[in-house]
Amino acid sequence: MAELHLTSSDIRDALRTVKDPDLGKDLVTLNMVKDVRIVGSAVTVGIELTTPACPMKDVIRKDIERAIAEQAKRVGASAPKITVEFTAQVRVAATKSASNPLPQVKHVIAVGAGKGGVGKSTVSVNLAVGLARMGARVGLLDGDIYGPSAPTMLGLDELTGAIRNEMLIPFEVHGIRAITIGKLVDPDKALIWRGPMAHGAFKQLALQTEWGELDYLIVDLPPGTGDVPLTLAQLLPLSGAVVVCTPQRVAQDDARRAVRMFQQLGVHVLGVVENMSYFVGDDGKTYDIFGRGGAEIMARTMNLPYLGAIPIHMDLRRNSDEGTPLKNWQGNPTLASELDGVCSRVASQISIATIQGGLIQPTLSVTG
Ligand code: ADP
Repeated sequence: MAELHLTSSDIRDALRTVKDPDLGKDLVTLNMVKDVRIVGSAVTVGIELTTPACPMKDVIRKDIERAIAEQAKRVGASAPKITVEFTAQVRVAATKSASNPLPQVKHVIAVGAGKGGVGKSTVSVNLAVGLARMGARVGLLDGDIYGPSAPTMLGLDELTGAIRNEMLIPFEVHGIRAITIGKLVDPDKALIWRGPMAHGAFKQLALQTEWGELDYLIVDLPPGTGDVPLTLAQLLPLSGAVVVCTPQRVAQDDARRAVRMFQQLGVHVLGVVENMSYFVGDDGKTYDIFGRGGAEIMARTMNLPYLGAIPIHMDLRRNSDEGTPLKNWQGNPTLASELDGVCSRVASQISIATIQGGLIQPTLSVTG
C-alpha cells in the first residue's frame, strides 16, 4: 500500500493549533505562515516572526513540530521530517496615522526615567545596538538635549556630521543610525534651552534627520517630566515608552512619576527595566547592592510588564565611556544575556501592542 503523506490542508489545520505565546493567537490567524512545502514526507514551514528579536523562536519551532507530528498520526500519514524556517518582518499597527511625519520609521520607542543617573542613556544605547545585533534596522535619537551622552557612549568624537539637502545625516555606528545635539553644538557649553527652544531643537533632530527605513527608532529622553516628552508625544506617533529605574525605593517613586507622565500624555508604557539590579563579584557571588527586584515589584503593582534586569557591571561602564557598546556582548555571558533579554522583551511588547491595535488579515500561501 502506498505511503500516505500530509497535505497542505493537514499542515494548515496543525498550524491553527499553534499559538504565538506572546501574541496569544494562532499562527494562521496571525498571518505568520508564509510558506508550506511538502515533498513526500518532508515538510518545510516558513514562519514570518513579528520581530527579529523574537524570544519565542524555539518554543514556536517545538510547538510546530509537535502539532504537525500529531496531525500525521491523526490522519494516518507517515511520520514527517519537519523543517521550520524563520524570517522576520516588523509590523506596523493598522491604526497608525496617515499623517505620520516619519513614515519610514515603523516604531518610535521613548526611553525615559524619573531622574538622571539611573542608566537611561545606557539602556537606550544597548537597546538600540542589541536590537540591531538581532537583525532589526534601528536608529537612536539622543533626545537628552540638556546632557547628550551619545557622543561619548557611541564614540562619535572623531566623526564629523554631514548635512544633505538640509537634512542631517545620522552617524552609522555599531550597526545603528544615531543623531545627537552633542555633535551640533559646542559640547563644553552648558546646554540651556528655554521651553520653545528645547521644543525646536528636539523637533529638528527628530524630523530633519534622514533616518531612512527603520524598524525601531529609540529616543533617549531627558530625565524627569519636562518639555521634551511632551514635544515628542505631540510630534510623533509613539509605539510606547520604556521606563528605566534602579531598585531603590526613592528611585521607584521617581519612576512612578515618569510612568504617570507617559500615561497622561496618552503614551503606551511598554514596561520597566531595572538597571543596576545586582552585582556579580569576582568570586561569582551576587550582591544585591540596591535591593534587587524593587523595580520589578513597582512594575507589577502598576500593572506594567517587567522588561528585565541589567546588572552593575564594570565593563558596561567602561564600554560606555569608551564608546564601544558592542563589547558588552563579548566575553560577558551574563551581561549579554540580560541585555538580549531586555531587547527581546521590548520587541515583544511592541509586537503585542501592534497586534492588539491592528487588524490581522488571515491569508495563507501554500505550495506543494
Ligand atoms: P542617565 O542617562 O539615566 O543619566 P547614564 O546611562 O548616563 O544615566 O548612566 C550614568 C553612569 O552610570 C554612566 O557612567 C554609565 O556608564 C553608568 N552605568 C549605568 N548603568 C550601569 C550599569 N548597569 N553598570 C555599570 N555602570 C552603569
